[in-house]
Amino acid sequence: MIYCDLAIVGAGTAGCFLAEQLSQQGYRVALVEKSRGVGGRCSRRGLPDEQSVDLGAFSFRHNSGLLTPDLQRWQQQGVLRPWHHSAATLESPEALRRDTQWCGVPSMNSWHRKLCTQARVITGVKVEKLARREGHWLLLDAEGCAPVQASSVVVTTPARQALSLYPWDNEWLALIRMASERTLSQWVCALLTDRTNPQLADRYSGSDPLLAEAIRDSSKPGRDSKDSELWMLHGQSGWSASHLQLQPEEAGQQLLERFQQLLSPRGNLQLLSSHRWLLARHRGPGVAAGHLFNHQLQLALCGDWLVDDPHIDGVEAALLSAQSLTRSILNPSHSGCAA
Ligand SMILES: Cc1cc2nc3c(=O)[nH]c(=O)nc-3n(C[C@H](O)[C@H](O)[C@H](O)COP(=O)(O)OP(=O)(O)OC[C@H]3O[C@@H](n4cnc5c(N)ncnc54)[C@H](O)[C@@H]3O)c2cc1C
Repeated sequence: MIYCDLAIVGAGTAGCFLAEQLSQQGYRVALVEKSRGVGGRCSRRGLPDEQSVDLGAFSFRHNSGLLTPDLQRWQQQGVLRPWHHSAATLESPEALRRDTQWCGVPSMNSWHRKLCTQARVITGVKVEKLARREGHWLLLDAEGCAPVQASSVVVTTPARQALSLYPWDNEWLALIRMASERTLSQWVCALLTDRTNPQLADRYSGSDPLLAEAIRDSSKPGRDSKDSELWMLHGQSGWSASHLQLQPEEAGQQLLERFQQLLSPRGNLQLLSSHRWLLARHRGPGVAAGHLFNHQLQLALCGDWLVDDPHIDGVEAALLSAQSLTRSILNPSHSGCAA
């Protein structure tokens, strides 16, 4: 068993950033993650020919201005870079504009690996239950074994997964339930074109009933770009929710055909991989002012669904949630997110 000051359930963006900040303050931190690697909804999928693609978030915005020193530090460390790209809507694909977002290099989750270098990372273990014994927390797996004992525990899973871990029926449970009802599903697929398409923008978004976003993954910094192009297609959440039972190839094929109809890319398209995210994104503002923290029990909740600012979502929300919880842990008089 690992004994630590702080155990974090989930090694996504919020969990890894929290681990980085508190490890730097001298806390002994353990991250327990059910998947094989870190990154959560910023994970990567390996493809044939040693290629890989960002399977979840492809980049993120920095709208709050509250993360500037961190972004600069990660950029200096070489794990995050601005992605200067052309963007357009699927409704007006010719009207190109310039945009900048941030992305991990060479993949989104390389950045997460850097964030948790000072923490103990335990992957492939799903926490089934949190138990409080003699003033400590035990994180129990399916066999009832406890790989970690900690003074404090932070749950950073999506709200729906936090529901089964949260042990008490109180006002927090109502918030977790509310957030779990706002979690959207999404089909995504990766495809390869055998010709380049300089006439197309690097990123499209819009309100087409089927296709939500098309991203030229190979245009992001640090990615290999040869004579072919790697594209990620993201299905609309409404279409995804009503087609959850499709076989992955079928869902990917429908997205590919829609991409062809809307944007007429040159060359042959090859479907490489499709994935169904049951818990993809949180819809609407989060349900708290950054995080939830019970000082007496040393139990906290943190993640993208806890930042109630309508201008902030996704990866930025997860980062700000971790930032505000760090402040509360280090300075108990701080409450909520400054965003
Ligand atoms: C297809 C897609 C596209 C997206 N596009 C964008 C975008 O363009 N821009 C943007 O900003 N955001 C985007 N997002 C959203 C963004 O990825 C998330 O908001 C962000 O990554 C959430 O981080 P998090 O740390 O809160 O949660 P997560 O990344 O979900 O981390 C939670 C972790 O907890 C683990 N876990 C869950 N239950 C357990 C358990 N019982 N025991 C142990 N571990 C557990 C999970 O495996 C996961 O690794 C996208 C998401 C998807 C899926």
